[in-house]
Formats: sequence, C-alpha cells, structure tokens
Amino acid sequence: MNRREYLKNTFGGFALLGSYGVGQSLAAAPAGRAEASPASSMDDHGQYVLPHLAYSYDDLEPYIDAQTMELHHSIHHQGYVNGLNNALSKLREAREQDDFAMVKHWSKEVGFHGAGHFLHEIFWSVMSPDGGGEPADVVLGNAIDSSFGSFERFTAHFVAASSAVEASGWGMLAWEPTADQLLVLQAEKHQNLSPMVTVPLLPVDVWEHAYYLRYQNRRGDYVRAFMNVVNWDAVAVRYHTARQILR
Ligand code: MN
Repeated sequence: MNRREYLKNTFGGFALLGSYGVGQSLAAAPAGRAEASPASSMDDHGQYVLPHLAYSYDDLEPYIDAQTMELHHSIHHQGYVNGLNNALSKLREAREQDDFAMVKHWSKEVGFHGAGHFLHEIFWSVMSPDGGGEPADVVLGNAIDSSFGSFERFTAHFVAASSAVEASGWGMLAWEPTADQLLVLQAEKHQNLSPMVTVPLLPVDVWEHAYYLRYQNRRGDYVRAFMNVVNWDAVAVRYHTARQILR
C-alpha cells in the first residue's frame, strides 16, 4: 500500500470508532471507505441498520468462505440489529408508561444484542482481502512490541486466547486507556468478561457460526486463517483515533 492509499484508508477509517459514541463528531471525516462506516448504521428513524460491507462475501476466500460470510452478515448480524432495536423500543415504552417491571430483561437484551451488533461492525471493518502480515503503522507496531514482547508473541497469545474462549464469544486485541497499553482479551457471548473501559481494536468472532461450515471444531485453524485477512491499517486507525479522543 502506498502513502496515498494509506492516508485515504486512514481518513475513511475515522468513522470506524462510531460504535463508541464518537461517530457523530467524526462523521464529517473525508470518506475513503464510507460504505463500511458504522457511523452511517442508524437510519433517519433512529433505528440501527445492518452495515454494508466494503468487500464481497467471497472476497475473503479461502480463509473465510462465502456461504459463512453471507449467513453471518445477512442472518446472524441482522438478528442482533433487530434485537437491539426491539429492546430499545421496549425501554422507550417503559419510560413512557413509567413501568419498569421488565427493565432487567430488556437491559440484558440491549447488552447482548448491542454488544453483538457493535462488535460485528468492527469485525467486518478489520478484515480485508488485502489483509494479513504485520501492521505497517509504526506506532501500532511498537505498541504491540512493548505490550506483548513481539508481533509473534502477540499472535501466539491472540490465537491461544481466541481459541480458548469458553463456548461462544470473541478474542480481542484492545486498547486500555488508563495506562495506554494494549491487552489481549476474551469475551464470553458478546458482553461478558471484557473490561468496559477498553476499546476493541481487533475482535475475532469465535462463535461457531463464524467458522463451523469450513473449520468444524478446529477453531484454532480458523483463528490462524483469520490472521491472513486482518486489515492492520483499519486497526491502526482505530488505535490512533481512540488515543486521540480518550487519552
Ligand atoms: Mn458472529
């Protein structure tokens, strides 16, 4: 990737942090890959919508197969979007009727479907048919080295943690703002175990629907294959944007 392409992707990627409530202020950023921008994932009626992908369902072959991509995006992710909209509308009704008897249930639904929706948005955005390798961004590369020892040790840790998530969940490279360091985390389901303050930089979906058609029970093979489609430029944009805003 040349410098012009890098800058284009970098500016376009500023909207990638939209899930964390900063999308509005960044929505006016020049659009490099605006079609993948989570900032545009709410419609005029205040409903969350399924984001468009910046690539085709078969573009990540052979690492992630087209059928899995189509089912995952159009069925599974759509389900989280619908569940989040529904739960938020039930909570709106509860406020209007001043009846919070079901607040625990619908709050849990917001947590489950909201975390699912937001993480999938990031997940799609940090993959690319041109991905893989190591970060071109020197600051991110140095941060990975100082946080984990080396890129190789990071990869080994990331693959091991992602492979070992109990049942359904995510592996995650995240930025921790209070000490400005990087962490490898696990999330169970979507919403459990991950410290709230951290900003996901590189989540990998390890629910069975993300890999079972091609990899069956071999989750580790899937995560290792995932490393070949990591869009490190998008990860670097998330990293820099988070530090710029939250430090
Ligand atoms: Mn998923």
